[in-house]
Amino acid sequence: MTFIATQENLSFLVSIKVATVVGHELAHQWFGNLVTMEWWTDLWLNEGFATWVSYLATDNLFPEWKIWSQFLNESTEGLRLDGLAESHPIEVEVNHAGEIDEIFDSISYRKGASVIRMLQSYLGAENFQRSLASYIKKHAYSNAKTMDLWNALEEGSGEPVNKLMSSWTKQMGYPVVSVKVTDQKLEFNQSQFLSSGAKGDGHWVVPVTLCFGSYDVRKNFLLQTKAEALKVEELVGSQIAGDQVANSWIKVNVDQTGFYRVKYDEPLAARLRYAIDKQLLSTADRYGILDDLFALCMARQESLTSLINLMGAYRGEVEYIVLSNLISVSYKVRRIAADAVPDLVDYFKQFFINLFQYTAERLGWDPKPGESHLDAMLRGEILTALAQFGHDLTLDEASRRFQAFLKDRNTPLFPPDIRKAAYVAVMQQANKSNRSGYESLLKVYRETDLSQEKIRILGSLSDTPDPDLVLEVLNFMLSPEVRSQDAIMGLPTSPEGRDVAWEWLKENWERILKTYGSGFLITRFVSSVVSPFASVEKAKEVEEFFASHGTQSIARTLKQSLERVNINANWVQSVKNEKSIADAVKELAYRKY
Ligand SMILES: [Zn+2]
Repeated sequence: MTFIATQENLSFLVSIKVATVVGHELAHQWFGNLVTMEWWTDLWLNEGFATWVSYLATDNLFPEWKIWSQFLNESTEGLRLDGLAESHPIEVEVNHAGEIDEIFDSISYRKGASVIRMLQSYLGAENFQRSLASYIKKHAYSNAKTMDLWNALEEGSGEPVNKLMSSWTKQMGYPVVSVKVTDQKLEFNQSQFLSSGAKGDGHWVVPVTLCFGSYDVRKNFLLQTKAEALKVEELVGSQIAGDQVANSWIKVNVDQTGFYRVKYDEPLAARLRYAIDKQLLSTADRYGILDDLFALCMARQESLTSLINLMGAYRGEVEYIVLSNLISVSYKVRRIAADAVPDLVDYFKQFFINLFQYTAERLGWDPKPGESHLDAMLRGEILTALAQFGHDLTLDEASRRFQAFLKDRNTPLFPPDIRKAAYVAVMQQANKSNRSGYESLLKVYRETDLSQEKIRILGSLSDTPDPDLVLEVLNFMLSPEVRSQDAIMGLPTSPEGRDVAWEWLKENWERILKTYGSGFLITRFVSSVVSPFASVEKAKEVEEFFASHGTQSIARTLKQSLERVNINANWVQSVKNEKSIADAVKELAYRKY
């Protein structure tokens, strides 16, 4: 879950957690207990199935939670990890008991659940359920292998399930499926996707699903070869109209049930932008189109210009999950822009303000009676983003409410959902010579007994553009006033803070190592401080420092963080060469809707 928890929505988040955990463990009654996997290599199937079933069950019991939207976070997390060179296949050879721990990771759970969902969606829910029932009956009170399940599904569906699924579970990674339209033909092409932009040689049997102009016109097929061209008329029963953009969008990977990325040519992308703008697509598809293009952009397969043009289509977006992802993409783009095109950063900020303003106005600052938990959480995230991008009206309103709160701790002007935004706004306006807002925040921190509130404040303190103040905040994090497990909350996320954070980390490394030793937290210090960099020189410097100061417990994290720095560095270089970006961002910054 990536929600920002407040007292009000905490109980909602706990309910979701309880429901999915109970669903997961109950699923093991069938997958694990009634039918037991023969060997650890098949563990992923137990865990993947239980994870998938936990969503299926929760969605049936509480449809109003829109839990499948939350599943998008799981599959995206899987896609991000599996796009790194450091990934591994779902099905791993296990020879010793000592290797078992290693396979209880995101790839087994998240990618595992995602490929099961992909298969179910491709075969159809009824077909899938029927075959599953016969498999359970046949193997009840005994052992089974992954292949026994595929055989049952193959028999029930007539589809080559064994071949299809092996390609997803026996090799690491996943493909990007490119689609373009020429002469009334759709051309599909698959190649391995790697976030670094490197070429991989993976090959998959891809269950392609597509919709054409409406969710009622749907087609499924297996992309087994590297490339395939299909006649549009055979696929959807009609020709594609050249000029009629309105009802002729084509969305591949319907509702994002497949574990792959999709890359569209510009004519198809333009139709999708139109469909997003006109709210014709499902929540999952709106989420997926953005996330795919963002991933492709980072891998330098798409331009930053095309990414921001797509982002511009989301101004009227209302769903929490989509907007939340849009906000994190905007933070990332701003950081890359700061390195690649510093002269344009103010235009980027103006564009994001323009983009989020509609939602901010819709939600307002005060809770509305009867609103959903998702809207309440969205309010906090949107206002925080506007504060981060320096939106004047947001900064002013935040200050006004913060002052009211300082005078009266029970003021109705300061509900928990907006506090993070207000604290970020306070720090955006604070610096070494104008420290009153910062001092007031520290005062609130010292007064409160609520750990939620303390964490919220710690998470805002380093959001200042003044590096000197960032350093002061970092030193505060290591003081006895901050519980050691909370210190990582204060690591800066702003481009202005990263150099000072790195110098600080080096200087305090021995102490941090001593305090956090081999625990999980030490990895957070490394990843949070190192990952924001975007140059090859910096990657070298970091590598050299840890060559003499490193420790086994950070080895894997350091590798992944350095891979991210190199991905950033290449991305920055390619944006520097992008001629169209200046005009595009200026147009978006001042676009009138
Ligand atoms: Zn489990």
